[in-house]
Amino acid sequence: MSTNVYVGLGSNEGDREGRLVAALEALSRIDAVAVLRHSSLFESAPVGPSQPPFLNAVVALDCGLSPQRLLTILQRIEHDLGRRRDGVRWGPRPIDLDILLWGGEVVADANLQVPHLELHKRRFALEPLVELAPDLKHPVLGVTVRDLLIRLAPQDVRRLSATQWPEARFLEHDS
Ligand code: AMP
Repeated sequence: MSTNVYVGLGSNEGDREGRLVAALEALSRIDAVAVLRHSSLFESAPVGPSQPPFLNAVVALDCGLSPQRLLTILQRIEHDLGRRRDGVRWGPRPIDLDILLWGGEVVADANLQVPHLELHKRRFALEPLVELAPDLKHPVLGVTVRDLLIRLAPQDVRRLSATQWPEARFLEHDS
C-alpha cells in the first residue's frame, strides 16, 4: 500500500539551493518511493536565535515504505549531504528533511511525530505545502493547510526565483 507523504526540505548553510536539488534527486532514487510534485523555492528568515536565512521547499511523495523506514532514509540522505548532529538545536544546517504529513494518519512514536509537531506554526513549511495541496486536512487539528496558513501570524517567507531547482510542478494534472 502506498501513501501520499509530504516532506519539507530546508538548508541554511553552504550551497543551499544545490543541497535542496541534491536532496530532491536522492528522494527520487529511493526504492518504493516516487516523487509526485515539488513546490517552488522559498526563502525564510530563521526561527529562533540569529543564523543565516533558509531556503525551503516541500515535496509530495507516493511512498510504499513505513514512516520509520522513510525517516531512516531521510536521515541517511541528510548525513550524505553533510549534516552532522552536534547537539545544537538551532544551529545552521546544510540540509534538514522533515516528514510533514503522512496521508491522513497520525504517528506518535518516541522519535517520530506526524503531522510534524511544528507544522501549523511554520509559514516556511505551510506556504510551499499550500502551493502543492491547499485542501489537505491536518488530521489532528481538523482544518485544511490553507486555513492553517491564513491563521498564522506574518513571518518573513517569500518565493524565490530558482537557478538550479527545477520549475515547480504543483498542480495535480502536472504529475
Ligand atoms: P531536526 O533537528 O529538526 O532535524 O530534528 C531531528 C529529530 O526530530 C530526529 O531525532 C527525529 O527523530 C525527530 N523527528 C520527530 N518527528 C519528526 C518528523 N516528523 N520528521 C523528521 N524528524 C522528526
